[in-house]
Amino acid sequence: MQELTHYLNGAHVKGTSGRFADVYNPATGEVQAKVPLAGEAELDQAVKYAMAAQPAWAAVNPQRRARVMMKFVDLLNRDMDKLAEALSREHGKTLPDAAGDVQRGLEVVEYCIGAPELLKGDFTDSAGPGIDMYSMRQPLGVSAGITPFNFPAMIPMWMFAPAIVCGNAFILKPSERDPSVPLMLAELLEEAGLPKGIIQVVNGDKEAVDAILHHPVIQSVGFVGSTPIAEYIYGTGCANGKRVQCFGGAKNHMIIMPDADLDQAADALIGAGYGAAGERCMAISVAVPVGEETADRLIEKLVPRIEKLKVGPYTSGNDVDYGPVVTAAAKANIERLVQTGVDQGATLVVDGRDFKLQGYEEGFFVGPHLFDNVTPDMDIYKHEIFGPVLSTVRAKTYEEALGLAMDHEMGNGTAIFTRDGDAARDFAARVNVGMIGINVPIPVPLAYHTFGGWKKSVFGDLNQHGPDAFKFYTRTKTVTSRWPSGIKEGGEFNFKPME
Ligand code: NAD
Repeated sequence: MQELTHYLNGAHVKGTSGRFADVYNPATGEVQAKVPLAGEAELDQAVKYAMAAQPAWAAVNPQRRARVMMKFVDLLNRDMDKLAEALSREHGKTLPDAAGDVQRGLEVVEYCIGAPELLKGDFTDSAGPGIDMYSMRQPLGVSAGITPFNFPAMIPMWMFAPAIVCGNAFILKPSERDPSVPLMLAELLEEAGLPKGIIQVVNGDKEAVDAILHHPVIQSVGFVGSTPIAEYIYGTGCANGKRVQCFGGAKNHMIIMPDADLDQAADALIGAGYGAAGERCMAISVAVPVGEETADRLIEKLVPRIEKLKVGPYTSGNDVDYGPVVTAAAKANIERLVQTGVDQGATLVVDGRDFKLQGYEEGFFVGPHLFDNVTPDMDIYKHEIFGPVLSTVRAKTYEEALGLAMDHEMGNGTAIFTRDGDAARDFAARVNVGMIGINVPIPVPLAYHTFGGWKKSVFGDLNQHGPDAFKFYTRTKTVTSRWPSGIKEGGEFNFKPME
């Protein structure tokens, strides 16, 4: 049994708390490693290393810090297959999907290579007589990030790449379910030239998270995960005076208008609803066809596509559409919610409940499900299922469909499929959701834009990556300077505008 470590001050360090969690291979259901769960003392040690290393790193000029990121991109590309394999082994997603997870993080690292430009301050020459005014962006000091299981490469990179290139030290507390890739990323960063102590990985659960939230030295906390934990971390972190941004769960609706290309919409729903076994915060979990005829035709097109889905372990290569879910508990929760759908009167058009995969009976595989006639009062509509389960809510009109997306408490992503530019523009303008797709089912913004939902999908203001990340990981300092030029006496007592 492999015993995983923390990564502290440039070295793999065994856990000392005595507490461990099991890391599964979701395809076989076997425990393949034990991950140490840090206590307060281990977190505090990481903070001490970070504090010691950070001032020298902040003093390195931004161009040189960016060069570490350049080298890191090379190393990510060199080790892409290795990282993808380690990721699939612990998460369960297919190899191409795992490589995509690394790739989308890598693109944020590429964006961070622009740090010298992005960190440039503002300057006003002669803001007053002989007075110059300039602002600069300075790192916060020690930052921390707490990440979910579903993107163990991309989401840590969303956080640590901008934090580090801005001159901060970063402590990552990854998901205890798939901690190996985050450890590998920390090693690669140091191979790229990052000094020891600037990236550290402290593995753990709530205890490590609470130690982060209460540590007086840690200046900022980034979180991505489920909504109840996001709300808790936001409240506790803010109460402790930290800068906090938290990204929560989702229930993404896709509106299908009567004029949409229904084959295109059905294909899009298959990828967005069932890809990665539905374990994506940008997965489409609710299809909203407008009009009975649209709904009937859509279901007709979805069923044969769903029946053709290939579910299996990542080791089957390109022959698999999606893999197992992450744990037995996740599988049980999905099955429980599916049962509530049946009990509460939704029509289970495709029933994946009896799905079994020969040779992998102990794996956490869940067959694909399709519900029709779902209504907003049902549990399968209200809650995030985070599994391969697509719910169809029939709307009579566009306004009713828009209202569904707007009234749901989550607001991460949404999409509309239509050939009508006017409907698409109206939807994008009015819907109270953060990321919108127009004939695009999973509208994940690229690295140089920002990522973030609305409503209960987010707590805090600034988004992930793009220019917002450079704001989140720096403080603005504004200097008003006057060099003596004959004004050698006479004080100013009134607060007044620049002349
Ligand atoms: P999770 O909330 O269970 O865990 C996320 C992190 O919080 C982990 O590091 C975990 O160790 C820690 N944690 C868990 N319980 C805690 C507690 N009681 N106190 C303190 N910390 C705790 O989420 P998950 O299951 O790993 O990830 C799936 C969720 O993440 C889904 O809800 C998904 O929608 C969401 N997600 C959101 C986004 C986004 O950008 N909005 C992106 C990816 C995932």
